[in-house]
Amino acid sequence: MPQVELTELTLSELETALAAAGLERYRARQIFQWVYRRGVTDFTAMTDLPGAQRETLAGRFRISTLPVARRDVSEDGTEKFLLALQDGRHVESVFIPRTPHQTFCVSTQVGCAMGCAFCLTATMGLVRNLTPGEIVGQVRVLAGALELRDSRFNVVFMGMGEPLHNYDATMAAVRILADDHGFAVHPRRITLSTVGLVPAIERLAGEDVMPRLAVSLHAPTDEQRAALVPVNRKYPIAEIIEACRRFPLVRRGRITFEYVLLAGVNDSPDDARRLAALVRDLHVKVNLIPLNPAAGIPFERPSDERIDAFAGALAERGVTVMVRKSRGRDIRAACGQLAVEGTKRSAAQRLADAIR
Ligand code: SF4
Repeated sequence: MPQVELTELTLSELETALAAAGLERYRARQIFQWVYRRGVTDFTAMTDLPGAQRETLAGRFRISTLPVARRDVSEDGTEKFLLALQDGRHVESVFIPRTPHQTFCVSTQVGCAMGCAFCLTATMGLVRNLTPGEIVGQVRVLAGALELRDSRFNVVFMGMGEPLHNYDATMAAVRILADDHGFAVHPRRITLSTVGLVPAIERLAGEDVMPRLAVSLHAPTDEQRAALVPVNRKYPIAEIIEACRRFPLVRRGRITFEYVLLAGVNDSPDDARRLAALVRDLHVKVNLIPLNPAAGIPFERPSDERIDAFAGALAERGVTVMVRKSRGRDIRAACGQLAVEGTKRSAAQRLADAIR
């Protein structure tokens, strides 16, 4: 019988799998604690389980991890990890310290199908979806490497991929992360970032475990936005705003609108005025993200004066706004930078191998 990958299972799925194997369902809680709180991947080390059960478990299940292929530490404390998947692909995950909490930024797909014009990951296209175990596995590896398993931390789904385009795996990962017997990350400490897949936002609104929502808006008019975020042709701004209006918010909760600032493209005083008008009666905050320039991205970062003027124009109109500090520029922490370079390197290596 093939072994089941235990890290792909939510607690209730593990309970069912244990019952099918003739074990008590409550053992699932013990196993979750070993795997997520203590970082154990070997059943023989789970000393509060009877010896015979550990043997049964080792025969039926495996607990995989994602080897670290590369780890870069920035001067500002940001750390970028390139993690190896079993099929030889790689994903990126980033640790951002003290913002004000510790934050892990994880990927949900290898590559991405959304084609945003300013994003390096988009140049890969969608290679494949990640599984729940591969998504949570990024947190397991980073929390272990940084000795933060017992700390409170945030998880943001803002790495490679569009989380709501891999909906079921993303939500299974949210459930595993939020489980009290594992990492116990409060759903309010988990943020899903989407380019605005309206049906998926509406589905998310009905979930019993409700993470925070961040919507990548990036432009105040459909014409501008469609040029930056092609999926806008399917889900225009008005539909996204309506879906946000209907999205249930916990007390004092807000939706975050992300807006990457691109010099001469979406950073004018008129753009700020239109953006303020769009979000005026919504419970939102606007997160301005000055572009982290990268080779292959045909846009520039606006000047600091232009960024300040844009933020000021929003604040004057009563919009809660913050400017995201650029992190990890010295380690190329922008989404996709390592994985895309890695892909290019492997393609170049294959070519070199072929002509050798
Ligand atoms: S910005 Fe996000 S949604 Fe857009 S292509 Fe990049 S990874 Fe995909």
